[in-house]
Amino acid sequence: MGNYYQPEIETASYDEIRKIQNEKIVKQIRHVYDNVAYYRKLMDEKNVKPEDIRSVDDIQKLPFLSKADLREAYPYGLLGTDLKNCVRIQSTSGTTGKRVVAFYTQGDVDIWEECCARAIVAAGGSEEDVCQVSYGYGLFTGGPGLNGGSHKVGCLTLPMSSGNTDRQIQFLMDLGATILCCTPSYAAFIGESLAEKGYKPEDNKLKAGIFGAEPWTEEMRRSIEKSLGIKAYDIYGLTEISGPGVSFECEAQTGMHINEDHFYAEIINPETGEVLPEGEEGELVFTSLDKEAFPLMRYRTRDLCVLKREKCACGRTHVKMCKPKGRSDDMLIIRGVNVFPSQIETVLLNEGYTPNYQIVVDRENNTDTLDIYVEMQPDQFSDVISELQERERALAAAMRTMLGIGPKMHLVAPKSVTRSEGKAVRVIDNRKLHD
Ligand code: ADP
Ligand code: ZN
Repeated sequence: MGNYYQPEIETASYDEIRKIQNEKIVKQIRHVYDNVAYYRKLMDEKNVKPEDIRSVDDIQKLPFLSKADLREAYPYGLLGTDLKNCVRIQSTSGTTGKRVVAFYTQGDVDIWEECCARAIVAAGGSEEDVCQVSYGYGLFTGGPGLNGGSHKVGCLTLPMSSGNTDRQIQFLMDLGATILCCTPSYAAFIGESLAEKGYKPEDNKLKAGIFGAEPWTEEMRRSIEKSLGIKAYDIYGLTEISGPGVSFECEAQTGMHINEDHFYAEIINPETGEVLPEGEEGELVFTSLDKEAFPLMRYRTRDLCVLKREKCACGRTHVKMCKPKGRSDDMLIIRGVNVFPSQIETVLLNEGYTPNYQIVVDRENNTDTLDIYVEMQPDQFSDVISELQERERALAAAMRTMLGIGPKMHLVAPKSVTRSEGKAVRVIDNRKLHD
């Protein structure tokens, strides 16, 4: 049994959780209907009234919201309270287009930070810990979210923000950081930089890392765990719903517990909108049960994943979501085949390469091309051309087995792929230039 930040709620029975959710949704839908004209209109169009929502089972009657709605309603159209009650604005990273902004009352910030505190405690954090927050601070939710969670737990918080890797390493070593919070791609970079400075994994005091904000594979997890000498925990979230901490991993490392007392999750068929039974893969949809300032109902995340409700070794009862394998819009369609960057990452790491890679998609003579550039480790480096070509051929064959199509592989010199300090940009899709 692990430690919990809020044990009563984190280990509550299914019936207790349902009861909390049912009470909250009735109040929340009234709040939204009365205060958010944009959503009231959508409900009216669907002929749904607040009194039709008597429990979370009725959520299916409600209309969806999507990023397009957020853009249309930008900036104030989905606000659920007077601006004077709001204390914070955050914004998405804009990974997939125009940024959207989200608002928070003090109550919303407190809940968000409590969710992050649950994640830190699940990773073994306590007031004994030095928590280095190397997510970006500012409009991006990563830094502020984990910073707030770290304060709530009572860790000694190192608000590093991202970047300036030499200073990160100096503080990490000098101040004995025990928990590192950043994107997985930045964690890999920090691990690599520590090794370059001659540190071995056992030289640092880190015991855990809380890594999220972008998709990463199991293989990437093992590689980071090895390079930093830690246990690496996944954390998931999105600005629209609050930020990191919507769900978080426990020591079982078999999915992330969703903070169900605040966020109600559904999985839908992305094409039809139909709600899918537990265990099936589809698009994750969240309803915020108690947010005041930015109370999104049935928000379509575009993240593809699976929900599982099963007894967890950690004692937590909240439903778990698998690692999202990427957003539906991260999926590349290359010569008619669906390809996820995470599949490519899996092959590269399994074949002994680094997580430093770049995927380039283009179109030549009306045919899609897929080029993958990956760095060799210094010991894989060779100046014998035939050896390199043989390696590239072997890698292309392994890719073909995984993806169903064969890419052109390019082994490149160590250090030639740009490192990421935040969310890594893995794919360059030049086809858009030709459209
Ligand atoms: P943007 O949508 O502009 O990237 P956010 O910073 O709010 O803005 O990012 C939220 C998105 O990041 C999620 O919808 C999801 O696609 C991705 N994400 C966050 N955490 C994880 C994680 N642990 N694993 C995979 N993807 C994640
Ligand atoms: Zn668990």
